Amino acid sequence: MSYDAIVIGGGLAGCSVALQLARSSHTVLLLEKTTYPRHKLCGEFLSPEAQSSFRRLGVLDAVADAGAAPMTRARLTGPNGSVAEHSLPDTALGLSRYRLDELLFRHACAAGVEGREDTRVTQVQGSLKDGFAVQTDAGTVEGRLVLGAYGKRGLLDRKLNRPFLQESSPYVAFKAHYEGPPSAIPGRIEVHAAPSGYCGVGPVEDNRLCVCWIGHTDALKDAGGSPDNMLNSLRRNPALDERMAPLTRVSPRFEAVSQVPLMAKEQFVNDVCMVGDSAGMIAPLCGDGMAMALAGADLAFPYASDFLNDRRSAEEFRRAYRQAWNDQFRFRLRLGRWVHAAAFRPAATTSLLSACRVFPPLARWLIRSTRG
Ligand SMILES: Cc1cc2nc3c(=O)[nH]c(=O)nc-3n(C[C@H](O)[C@H](O)[C@H](O)COP(=O)(O)OP(=O)(O)OC[C@H]3O[C@@H](n4cnc5c(N)ncnc54)[C@H](O)[C@@H]3O)c2cc1C
Repeated sequence: MSYDAIVIGGGLAGCSVALQLARSSHTVLLLEKTTYPRHKLCGEFLSPEAQSSFRRLGVLDAVADAGAAPMTRARLTGPNGSVAEHSLPDTALGLSRYRLDELLFRHACAAGVEGREDTRVTQVQGSLKDGFAVQTDAGTVEGRLVLGAYGKRGLLDRKLNRPFLQESSPYVAFKAHYEGPPSAIPGRIEVHAAPSGYCGVGPVEDNRLCVCWIGHTDALKDAGGSPDNMLNSLRRNPALDERMAPLTRVSPRFEAVSQVPLMAKEQFVNDVCMVGDSAGMIAPLCGDGMAMALAGADLAFPYASDFLNDRRSAEEFRRAYRQAWNDQFRFRLRLGRWVHAAAFRPAATTSLLSACRVFPPLARWLIRSTRG
């Protein structure tokens, strides 16, 4: 059988675009290399913007029922422990990727998507004109359209010879879940900056906290390759130290990722339409990657559907999606890179936090401009 669309990757972007195409009566195959549920490196902070996508997908109630923890404020601290706290434009949610990704995948399947877990895509060949052959470790499948939603960086990027791979990224990140007394689980997201990186702390389901930190690879080397030691060095920020003191790690192991690629990417590669992090990733500090992945899927869906319904040529599809993607995300990504770079400069972080305290509209502008 040949599918209308083959979606590679069952994260937020892939599940969302697959679900929307299936609801529009297209035949959709969704290929995911892992099996659910599975932990995934992420700060697990779902910004308010994600909720409008969830509402449109019809999964907002299921996300709440899965135990998503509400957050109404954001606290940022500088390397010397200086604090700036602001209310969020709307309620944000904390839910583990362990729960969220499975929930989205199951909803996509219930909407008519053929979902295959434990199926890794190894190569894609073809074009929008002639159709595609997608090779997996379980055989080859065919489709008219391929959407690449396989995340920030992977084997397929090498196979597709993507130019962004020529730049190396010096960042490494870790995540684990922690438990603590009820007073240690407040309804806010916190981001603590330290000279060698930054660390996000926010509540998720079951009264747990997701702790996720990112730093330069040199910081990991200095920490002897140990994620715990790297986190301890970030705890030179006294606010983070105080935050972590009553917490105990409950995850048996750390989730880890290296080479976090924040550079610009292309939205079409060899006619594969990229969505989510595969099309471009916002700095984790902005806490908006998941909302952006969902918004990217919302953006790609009508163009892809029009192409499949012969209402848009391949050339129009490529041009319109690229244009819309850049209009919506390019400035946000640039600003995110700038804020991320500032977080690695203690003097810049301290000045930025002071400026946000003295002039709250600046904080509001930064929050607004790094999201939709
Ligand atoms: C340190 C860090 C912290 C972050 N914290 C936050 C946060 O708090 N809030 C937030 O909103 N965003 C955060 N993000 C960003 C967020 O995690 C991503 O933007 C989001 O997951 C992107 O979704 P996606 O669907 O594009 O990709 P992903 O969620 O990465 O999904 C890609 C899927 O594709 C699958 N896959 C990969 N290769 C293949 C293949 N060859 N074949 C089949 N399947 C494949 C993967 O298994 C995965 O399931 C963070 C990122 C980092 C690095």
